[in-house]
Amino acid sequence: MEERYVPMRRCVGCMRSLPKPQLIRLADTPDGIAEELSGRGGRGVYLCVSEDCLSKAIKKNAFSRSFKRKIEDEEYDRLREALRLHAEGSLEVM
Ligand SMILES: [Zn+2]
Repeated sequence: MEERYVPMRRCVGCMRSLPKPQLIRLADTPDGIAEELSGRGGRGVYLCVSEDCLSKAIKKNAFSRSFKRKIEDEEYDRLREALRLHAEGSLEVM
């Protein structure tokens, strides 16, 4: 049996551990919370490409806790939009 090591990360919404490529990494950037693709730069949290998980994370204040500041509603709106684009994008790939 062939086993390849896949790093696992935990989604801040549903708290499930999933293979890292299935999650998006969010970081606190100068423009607010945004997707961070390089994997560098500060503390990041991982989230499923799912508005459900985003809503759960918002309800739990997971982002404010991780980034140690208050998150504005507009930032959440932008994250929602980013997730929507992602969901559409992955459909195209498949
Ligand atoms: Zn999730």
